[in-house]
Amino acid sequence: MNINNDVVEAIGNTPLIRLKRASEETGCNILGKAEFMNPGQSVKDRAALFIIRDAIKRKKLWPGGAVVEGTAGNTGIGLALVANALGFRTVIVIPNTQSQEKKDMLRLCGAQLIEVPAVPYSNPNNYVKLSGRLAEQLAKTDSNGAIWANQFDNVANREAHIETTAPEIWRQTNGKVDGFVASAGSGGTLAGVSIGLKKMNPNIRIVLADPMGSALYNYYKHGVLKSEGSSITEGIGQGRITANLEGATIDDAYQISDEEAVRIVFGLLEHEGLCLGGSSGINIAGAIRLAKELGPGHTIVTMLCDYGTRYQSKLFNPEFMRSKNLPVPEWLEQRSAISV
Ligand code: PMP
Repeated sequence: MNINNDVVEAIGNTPLIRLKRASEETGCNILGKAEFMNPGQSVKDRAALFIIRDAIKRKKLWPGGAVVEGTAGNTGIGLALVANALGFRTVIVIPNTQSQEKKDMLRLCGAQLIEVPAVPYSNPNNYVKLSGRLAEQLAKTDSNGAIWANQFDNVANREAHIETTAPEIWRQTNGKVDGFVASAGSGGTLAGVSIGLKKMNPNIRIVLADPMGSALYNYYKHGVLKSEGSSITEGIGQGRITANLEGATIDDAYQISDEEAVRIVFGLLEHEGLCLGGSSGINIAGAIRLAKELGPGHTIVTMLCDYGTRYQSKLFNPEFMRSKNLPVPEWLEQRSAISV
């Protein structure tokens, strides 16, 4: 018998899918790790599980205790599912700019949702800082304990990728992997996979694919944290070196425009049946760039971070896309016009 005892055991071990047109265009093998196949439909289930397990191991949480986090959505969904399965509660602080679909899913999971205005990290009312203070208060008053998941600076996050994502990629490619490309939100994925893969082969090239509005591209390219422009992608982009990013080797960085990323997302749904969110588009654009740099015959892995239905009201909404001066494929106009 091959049975998972609970939903937590179904996290990870996601398939690697060959991206056909990207591979053909470059003469490389461009492979996407299908993280949308996790139970919470995103890569963040891995970090959620490792963060909660770490808190249990350190005796910070007891049954009924609260897991508090400031999150753009996916981490919250992962935390809520894992918490429900293991007997904890979740309290989520979310910027009110995030997609309705993610907020609906969080409510559905039973998370207590606190929506706050989106203000920069330097502001004391930033959602991440608010969640930290809230966790501190709850830890004092809740007899079952409360933890701040703190995905940005809790390295249990990147540990998930050192221990699971990187070894999975190594096994799935029989060690024949030349490059790995990912965007960064907390940086857990990029840093964890870098640490994990470089242990196996230090020559594997690790590249950041950064959206506009993030400061990381300029940091890895020119040594200064500086951002320009903005992006509609959610969950990625960062203005500082988080504890998860610290010390990890990142060999190069690319800056990717929304226009380039969304064209890839639309093409993959239309021609390859892959329904993805915007960060996957940024990642794949980066993987194509690295493939062109390395030349034909190389194998490059990237992350398909979450499922596209999470963005029906944004990326897949012609009106929203037009308001951002981004391209809308004809088929999307037609499909979204159909009503019964
Ligand atoms: N893509 C999406 C859609 C995300 O929600 C996140 C995490 N916020 C990422 C990519 C980046 O993952 P990480 O936090 O590991 O850098």
